[in-house]
Amino acid sequence: MTEKGLLIVLSGPSGVGKGTVRQAIFSQGEQEFMYSISATTRKQREGEVDGIDYFFKSREEFERMIEKNELLEYTEYVGNYYGTPIDYVKKTLEAGNDIFLEIEVQGAMQVKERMPEGIFIFLTPPDMMELEARIINRGTDASPVIRERMEKAVEELNLIRYYDYAVENDTVDNAVNKVLAIIKSEHLKVSRILDTKLRTEKE
Ligand code: 5GP
Repeated sequence: MTEKGLLIVLSGPSGVGKGTVRQAIFSQGEQEFMYSISATTRKQREGEVDGIDYFFKSREEFERMIEKNELLEYTEYVGNYYGTPIDYVKKTLEAGNDIFLEIEVQGAMQVKERMPEGIFIFLTPPDMMELEARIINRGTDASPVIRERMEKAVEELNLIRYYDYAVENDTVDNAVNKVLAIIKSEHLKVSRILDTKLRTEKE
């Protein structure tokens, strides 16, 4: 029996550079993963390809996917829906391949509830502590818009406690190397190796 694939969730606060780190991970040749292509109702940007970057959907189509339970998680982010089709995730894992999700924090929390065996990696801005201090000290003086954004940032940063790993995005190269190291060691976990062995013996 093949080892079951790993579900890897890369998440973190808005603007931290998740997309850039994910792209760099997929351009390195050392380790291979499948990518979970999300569905979204947001407009296709120039250069984006339907079925590669996203599955671009109308709101009606997306809501039908929700009703039919076709999504592992979904969220509404800045007025658009984003979600992870569940079928592809399940099939990839069963086939023994690792699958990579790059999603925002609300969605990551839903995945954690449904598939807690996943590996949850939180990408942090390099100045996280500084940012928090700034928000706490000066938040009350700021304009309502800035305050709202800061509050949202703090809310997102606070979710770090639910993750397995924190990776500082100081440089893209460093962040990529850390993510790859995490995945390598997850594959070597005794519990995983024993689980595969037990499942093989049962066959
Ligand atoms: P963008 O519109 O810039 O491509 O993505 C906006 C945000 O949505 C990013 O933080 C990205 O990580 C997140 N995102 C992309 N796909 C999904 C998804 O399937 N589910 C969730 N929850 N967030 C997603």
